[in-house]
Amino acid sequence: MPRKARGTSPPPDPDAALRVGIGYDSHPFALGRPLTLGGILIPSEKGLSGHSDADAVCHAITDAILGAAGLGDIGEMFPDSDQANKNRDSIEMLEAAVKRLGASGYEVNQVDVIVITEAPRLSPHREKMRARLAAALGIDSSRVSVKGKTNEGMGWIGRNEGLACIAVATLKRNHS
Ligand code: MG
Repeated sequence: MPRKARGTSPPPDPDAALRVGIGYDSHPFALGRPLTLGGILIPSEKGLSGHSDADAVCHAITDAILGAAGLGDIGEMFPDSDQANKNRDSIEMLEAAVKRLGASGYEVNQVDVIVITEAPRLSPHREKMRARLAAALGIDSSRVSVKGKTNEGMGWIGRNEGLACIAVATLKRNHS
């Protein structure tokens, strides 16, 4: 076998470039508010309060994908000061962020989410959340992971004052 000359390897495949982003969100619980997580209405005596529908799962994912693409954050894209964002459907905001990614040359590859809350239990709703999020992200639900965890009774989450959500997303180049 002839030795491969230096400097003759092919240029790096641009599709191999993967971008990673992280997102975090938290909202306080409030009586009489609906609990919407990952676009799914979850039966609960308490919901989350916030300017929009307070869907912390969608908000964390939106921040993760915007961050991965270097496109700022959800607060810049959908400011609280804009009345159009009051009680806004967060799935719609996520879809708008995915569209913006597309315009800048990226598509979502995969998303992993942790919801940290003492109650309610999320496992009965997990598959519906994955399907709803996958549809908004334009990917198969096998590429969306949603995991629930408690905070072992510690701190504000442990006292059931609210919940937190952490999301990681990877993006790849789109082919448009
Ligand atoms: Mg939020």
